[in-house]
Amino acid sequence: MILILKKSASQEQVEQVISRLELLNLSAQLISCGQTPTVAIEDDVSKIASHVFSQIPGVDKVIRVQSQAKLSLTSEFQPISVGSHDSEIQIGSGLEPVFAAGPCSVEGQAQILRNARLAKEAGAQILRGGAYKPRSSPYEFQGLGAEGLRYLHEAKKASGLPVLSEVTSPAQVEEAESYVDILQVGARNMYNYELLKELGNSRLPVLLKRAMSATISEWLNAAEYMVSAGNQKIILCERGIRTFETQTRNTIDLNAVAVLKRSSTLPVFVDPSHGTGRADLVADLARAAIACGADGLVIEVHENPAASISDREQAISPEAFKAIVDDCRRIHAALNFRQNAPALKAPALELKV
Ligand code: PEP
Ligand code: MN
Repeated sequence: MILILKKSASQEQVEQVISRLELLNLSAQLISCGQTPTVAIEDDVSKIASHVFSQIPGVDKVIRVQSQAKLSLTSEFQPISVGSHDSEIQIGSGLEPVFAAGPCSVEGQAQILRNARLAKEAGAQILRGGAYKPRSSPYEFQGLGAEGLRYLHEAKKASGLPVLSEVTSPAQVEEAESYVDILQVGARNMYNYELLKELGNSRLPVLLKRAMSATISEWLNAAEYMVSAGNQKIILCERGIRTFETQTRNTIDLNAVAVLKRSSTLPVFVDPSHGTGRADLVADLARAAIACGADGLVIEVHENPAASISDREQAISPEAFKAIVDDCRRIHAALNFRQNAPALKAPALELKV
């Protein structure tokens, strides 16, 4: 079991929590003592009711850990900084949602330069664009590869936006690191453990998309590969799972967002483009994602959606993206106001993950 103590807990309160646990004959260990003190109990506590722990003064959350992804659930929470001084953004700060936008694929040098400018003008803080494209069919456009990474780097320099791009194999990581700011693991590669191990040694943040059939535990374990190797800068991205439904490309599991926001300390993004596969639904799901606690969104935005080389059915225009950014900022501000009202603050939670 993990006890997350209140952010404001003093050293004395932390010691009091540990002594209370010792009185219960439990051996407790402080596993993180920075901003969010965290105490781990190794003993079997299955027969002790959760309120026994949640009522100890100073305890904020009670987590019954069934998963092995201990570090992804409890590591010290730190917002992830990307970009350089003038365009630095904080991911997961809780203060504002973060918007990543851009075309599905880098289609050429001029195309990504134009799209970077348009995305930025419409409110993007991160430019997305695939250079290595893991396509479902071998006959579809496979991306420009390393050439695409170089164009992205030029777009970054011209626009000032940090860039996000996918790597599909360990061999691509070193080169990609010199061109991009955030590395993406796509849904099809969430189970690529050699890739995850390589990214665990990277200095860059990683956006880890959920595989289309992964449970939340499997997804957290994929994150754990990187966190346990030393890369704590992992952003989880819900991009829809495969269900029996055929009206949409995937089904966005907003339950997962709510579960993760209550259990993991890693930031959670939602990709409503791949999640729905339909341009007409992107705005609705983007707003819903922010309303249920997502820290940011990744959206496919193209200067001319109908001409997009890949995923044209789900690409939206820069104007449509701008409207989403405006709505989401308003929704986020309204909900934060509610969360900060003391009367509405949630009691200590019991979490099963
Ligand atoms: C993408 O972001 O372009 C992509 C291929 O996404 P996913 O891995 O979620 O399908
Ligand atoms: Mn795509």
